[in-house]
Amino acid sequence: MSGQKIVVLGTGGTIAGTSEQAEDNIGYTAAQVGVAQLLEAVPGLEALAMVLHSEQVAQIDSKDMDGEVWLALARRCAHHIEDPVVRGIIITHGTDTLEETAWFLHQTLNAHKPVVLTCAMRPSTALTPDGPQNLLDAVAVAMTSGASGVLAVAAGEVHGALHVQKVHPYRVHAFTSGDVGPLGFVEEGTLRLTQNWPLALDGKARIAIEKIANADAWPRVEIVISHAGATGAVVDALVRDDVQGLVVACTGNGTMHHALEAALLRAQDAGVKVVRSTRCPEGQVLPKRGDLFPDSRGLSPVKARIALMLDLLNASARK
Ligand code: ASP
Repeated sequence: MSGQKIVVLGTGGTIAGTSEQAEDNIGYTAAQVGVAQLLEAVPGLEALAMVLHSEQVAQIDSKDMDGEVWLALARRCAHHIEDPVVRGIIITHGTDTLEETAWFLHQTLNAHKPVVLTCAMRPSTALTPDGPQNLLDAVAVAMTSGASGVLAVAAGEVHGALHVQKVHPYRVHAFTSGDVGPLGFVEEGTLRLTQNWPLALDGKARIAIEKIANADAWPRVEIVISHAGATGAVVDALVRDDVQGLVVACTGNGTMHHALEAALLRAQDAGVKVVRSTRCPEGQVLPKRGDLFPDSRGLSPVKARIALMLDLLNASARK
């Protein structure tokens, strides 16, 4: 039986952003307001003041997210998940790399309790900020009986870490789970689930958090894109610069320009791990006979990059 405490971990983002003018939704500075202050500003959360416990893990614009913050976040989440008095975790995060952090945490945590990332497209000082409602909705999800997994809550929708993706640079409704659809909707504080909760990894994390902590550095994995007129020059330069893995944002069902393919074959021969994803925003690469490189098993390019980094870290830790 889990406890009642909800831990809110702050990392920054537009939800904690401020702007000089209330009507300015884009000319703001992200990551200015502390997470405790954000919670205090949500009228609907007053009654839960005794239940909500905040911790500032970072204060950054999530475009600048890095492995150090991910590791700190994963450690705090793992600590709180195993605390019997904790019912769930909420993470306030920028929208830009929210899907990457969600995927990283999904790969490293045994999230048998809900780990809910939330965010905002408008700064906290906006005329109509979206952050307070998103926070309220995130709390509603974290307190829902049976909730589990790494989730994202924004604009009244709940998404799973695997499919969530930011698809709009400006609108309040900026996230989608593509053709799979959201896991559910938060309606006036009540969750209407339309799919099952994502399964907790239950000891099958892609890598133990401490293995990441003990590694000298994160493996160098870059994303290259196939496009009209692509050449292999970027790949050749990256190989000279000791890249360890390459994710290709391919055209369509995992195809790529022949010049890029030739360079990637040279890279693969030199020991670089190459994985194909697709630059199409929906669907996934379907494998077929004769493929020269493995596919990302449904992961978008940015998530495939994280998976490959974790696999490379695991492989180097095993040596
Ligand atoms: N650049 C901001 C961030 O990702 C954007 C946002 O949060 O909406 O931190």
